[in-house]
Amino acid sequence: MDTHGGERLAWGQVLVGVAALALLAWGGLAAVFAVPVKPAAEHHREVSRHAARHAATQAVAGAAAPIDCAHVPCLALTFDDGPSAVITPQVLDILERHHVRATFYVVGSRVAGNEPLLQRMHAEGHEIGNHSWGHTNFTTLTPQQIHDEITLTQAAVAAAGVPMPTTFRPPYGAMNPVAASNVPLTVVRWNVDPEDWGTHKPQEIIDRVKAQARPGGVVDLHDIHQQTADSLDVILNDLSPHYNWVTVSELFSLPPGQRGDFSGR
Ligand SMILES: [Zn+2]
Repeated sequence: MDTHGGERLAWGQVLVGVAALALLAWGGLAAVFAVPVKPAAEHHREVSRHAARHAATQAVAGAAAPIDCAHVPCLALTFDDGPSAVITPQVLDILERHHVRATFYVVGSRVAGNEPLLQRMHAEGHEIGNHSWGHTNFTTLTPQQIHDEITLTQAAVAAAGVPMPTTFRPPYGAMNPVAASNVPLTVVRWNVDPEDWGTHKPQEIIDRVKAQARPGGVVDLHDIHQQTADSLDVILNDLSPHYNWVTVSELFSLPPGQRGDFSGR
């Protein structure tokens, strides 16, 4: 038994020695190829830090997991015609306080000088959509003019350092066959229309949104009016218990490049 034990010990030492040599060789190779060999614990800490950062980002964005709007009540807030240096920051502050994400349909000609607002939208989990360059009725435009309206805005958004839009909101919701075949983005209109531009009373906007809200709804608001910013806190307080707030791409489960014309589920 002792002999066998001694043999096992000897073989064990040989194995340990071989393993050590292999590790040394790997270390040497790693050094040659400048591959950092990190202790497992350090690697684990990095993974944990990454996971914590990711979780924090998701907490800020308000989405712990993908939301299936086919099975749970969702509502998409959209804000058109900005960015506005005065109103858009107020809207972003309220959305941030409620951990709500929305979609901003920016007018391309209004992006210059407001790039930090687009960067904030993106950083806080909002979707940025294309609302044309000059807010012209697309049913009056030639294919070349439509092309210019879209691509100038895409370029302005990209120049702000955020992802290019994948969805387009036609000014006035106006589309015709020529526009439909020349707009290369997913068209998203709306089915909850509080006409916030037509009143100065926040309470009227609140009442209209609450009266029209439905699962799968797309709410059309405008981040260029003070009354809209003033209505938002109450809208979120009153409807948050009943809906998951999502971006339009989440509401319709849109992959980038999806063609079509969506107004609400
Ligand atoms: Zn508009």
